[in-house]
Amino acid sequence: MFNALLLEESGKDTLARVQRLDVNQLTEGDVLVRVDYSSLNYKDALAITGKGKIVRHWPMVPGVDFAGTVLASDHADHKIGDEVLLTGWGVGEKTWGGMAEKVRVNGDWLQSLPGNMSPKRAMAIGTAGLTAMLSVMALEHAGITPNQGPILVTGATGGVGSTALQLLAKAGFEVHAATGRSAHKEWLTRLGASQVIDRNEFLQEPAPLASQVWAGAIDAVGGRTLANILSQTKMRGAIAACGLAGGVALNTTVMPFILRGVQLLGIDSVYAPIATREIAWQRLEETLPVDFEEQCEVYTLEQSIQAAHDLLAGKLKGRALIQP
Ligand code: NDP
Repeated sequence: MFNALLLEESGKDTLARVQRLDVNQLTEGDVLVRVDYSSLNYKDALAITGKGKIVRHWPMVPGVDFAGTVLASDHADHKIGDEVLLTGWGVGEKTWGGMAEKVRVNGDWLQSLPGNMSPKRAMAIGTAGLTAMLSVMALEHAGITPNQGPILVTGATGGVGSTALQLLAKAGFEVHAATGRSAHKEWLTRLGASQVIDRNEFLQEPAPLASQVWAGAIDAVGGRTLANILSQTKMRGAIAACGLAGGVALNTTVMPFILRGVQLLGIDSVYAPIATREIAWQRLEETLPVDFEEQCEVYTLEQSIQAAHDLLAGKLKGRALIQP
């Protein structure tokens, strides 16, 4: 038996409760893992609160990522006692996820912890950190270098945004942070932002083309914000679009693409190939501060329900860890 946060469908609502479950109830897989840490991502918050259509099958254990120790394995690459991590692959959406003391998954989805990384550090980074790193790598691949001008990060106080900020600053970029929470200006500056901008500035009706400001951007917000950034991006600039915290619609024109050669780069961490993930995790381990995990709040399974509501209400900052 083990404890898990279980989501059940109740009419149009989602019921979230910590329950005691039997290992036989776990969804299928060839590796059983004891979860040391999971983390609270935007998607988990949508699932737990029922505010987004994330869950594909009921009941569901949320948690799109986890790190822990192998308890049983029929998979050639993983043996009992190995420390592993998982992000994405539909875990916490289609199959039961990491907000539980135990999880069973397809061993192909598991990665060994890079170097001496602890499970706590792995989840402090988690899906959000991987997404931030994939976004940085996409900008690099598009040819963006620090001498071309500032990079804008939106949703800057969030998990993806705050990690992207640190990665870009460490790589030598001038980073500007867009946030709705000016109270965290000092914190964002400490993470590496040289300017902090009110996110409302990106909510006006976008012009097809506006003054050229950004060499690039990592956008966790989408919607009108992304449309405005597109029109403000410099010649040959690039935007890594990774999120939708501000909306999914994108009403724009082709002008930035055909007159300025701007590139819009889609970022998907969920089904990113293993080889790309390994490079990303190695770089995350090398680049982020040694005390990165100490920046995070840690919640129990019980507390994760309120934390999910708080995340969507904009009351959390940075990354939130779940310790089952
Ligand atoms: P967080 O909640 O930690 O961060 C989101 C941030 O977005 C908030 O902190 C806030 O920052 C800003 N924000 C929230 N609501 C609005 C709004 N209405 N308008 C403008 N800005 C808003 O979430 P994560 O960092 O975990 O995820 C960020 C986004 O990235 C999400 O949309 C998520 O779905 C997506 N994502 C995508 C992945 C992928 O593979 N493509 C993987 C992981 C996440 P501030 O207060 O500073 O403005």
